[in-house]
Amino acid sequence: MAQRRLLAVLAHPDDESFGPGGTLAKYAAEGVEVHIAICTDGAAGSVTEEFESSRGQLAEIRRLELEAAVEILGAQLHMLGFRDSGYTGDPANEDPQAFMNIDGAQATWRIVQLIRTIRPQVVVTHDETGGYFHPDHIKAHEITLAAFHAAGDPEQYQELGGEPYQPQRLYYTAFPNRWLKMYTLVMRLRGQDPRRMGRNQDIDFTNLGRPLSEMHLRVNTSDTWETKMAASAEHRSQGGGGGFAGWMPRWLQKRLFRWEYFIRAYPPARNGERDAGFFNGIAPG
Ligand SMILES: [Zn+2]
Repeated sequence: MAQRRLLAVLAHPDDESFGPGGTLAKYAAEGVEVHIAICTDGAAGSVTEEFESSRGQLAEIRRLELEAAVEILGAQLHMLGFRDSGYTGDPANEDPQAFMNIDGAQATWRIVQLIRTIRPQVVVTHDETGGYFHPDHIKAHEITLAAFHAAGDPEQYQELGGEPYQPQRLYYTAFPNRWLKMYTLVMRLRGQDPRRMGRNQDIDFTNLGRPLSEMHLRVNTSDTWETKMAASAEHRSQGGGGGFAGWMPRWLQKRLFRWEYFIRAYPPARNGERDAGFFNGIAPG
């Protein structure tokens, strides 16, 4: 096959590492040209205490962290630079320029342009719940889905120039709720309320994840687990990825979280269909 190319469109600086980082690093290591587009500047994200005083420079800090992380993953970075929105209820969300509030078409063309330039056979983004209902994740999903279907249409976004290009597959990042059930049990045993998690206590862990039967692809990231951890650690203003399960011994984290899961959105999967990899069985080109 000709050069394999993958484009992942994700909402925030850190989503590439904390999310499908092991998979992105694995494909990059296998010679796939991996492109990561990050929609927002991350300036409304919650920060660890030591970074509270440098809030004004947060966008710049997060850009540097992201550049370092993406380099570790072995990918190429594209920053779209939209203004970060907060989680549901955050005052940052009243800003008309916040990513969640801008007109969809205003952002979709950016992804169309990336697809026509990079010409990825495979596109990856958040699922329609955004993983945990963050408005920026949902927005990234919406514009990527729209762009995926528009990029190959010569009638759409003609003003951008460039050859229309239709990627062959669209995948969503996802995680099964099976281990989440176990994890919420552990949280309760530790005296934590799984319905009020995250630094702002606004994430309901009992409402996350999807049944394993809805996953079409699972990737064993054992070989790139350390790479993912190293990339995650670059996001120091976000706690370096240690917050979620940092109290667990590393070997146990690796054992529990080495699989990364994806839902195939296009072409639609038949019931029970499973893919062996992003590029398995697709036509060259
Ligand atoms: Zn995010």
